[in-house]
Amino acid sequence: MQKEPVTSHPISKAPVSTPPDLSELVRQLPHKPGVYLYKDRLNKVIYVGKARDLHKRVSQYFHPSRRMTADRKTRALIESIWDIETHTVKTEPEAILLEGKLIKEYRPRYNISFRDDKRFLLVKVNLNDPFPRFQLTRMKKEDGFRYFGPFAHSGALRSTLSLMKRKFHLRSCRPDIPEEADFKHCLDHVIKQCSAPCVARITRAGYLAQVRQACEFWRGNRRRCCNKSSRR
Ligand code: SF4
Repeated sequence: MQKEPVTSHPISKAPVSTPPDLSELVRQLPHKPGVYLYKDRLNKVIYVGKARDLHKRVSQYFHPSRRMTADRKTRALIESIWDIETHTVKTEPEAILLEGKLIKEYRPRYNISFRDDKRFLLVKVNLNDPFPRFQLTRMKKEDGFRYFGPFAHSGALRSTLSLMKRKFHLRSCRPDIPEEADFKHCLDHVIKQCSAPCVARITRAGYLAQVRQACEFWRGNRRRCCNKSSRR
């Protein structure tokens, strides 16, 4: 019996496990801050990362020397990347916030589980405090606080937290209710970093309005937080 001629698409000859060549896509990435999402062959997001320079950061993954020196987990990640999606933003802090948001949304398997991994930090604030202050924590509790994150880069998060305090004139002192005695030893008001609720330079309502804008910032709601603050 004569066999039917076999016709096949050229792609079907490639082993299923061979990822496509993404070098052209990587070459065209902008030198801008942003977030990158790596996807597997089923188009599932497997890793989310942030970068000050998307082009530089993503290129590092595909550099031949990186493949040689990377640990097993990173090599496995590199070998699973079939597509890359990027989102550019204006600043690195914005990239950090967006990264946290996307990791929470996709729970990519190469980003370590937040709930179990002690390295990840959250930002918390209690809006019922007289003058709420933003703090870092590793544990989320049912305690009435509002939590933001988790965030994967502790150093960058700490810088973003100080930037946020400056931007919204929020206090960084520790007492639950700061008083005049605290003010005497504090320069934050002099350098215009804090609106000084401790000595009533701002009402509680005014201070809470600043805190709420900062919450919008942590939620990644740039327009709502930043339009309002620029009109102050
Ligand atoms: S100015 Fe007052 S409220 Fe602000 S950080 Fe200093 S002591 Fe705290």
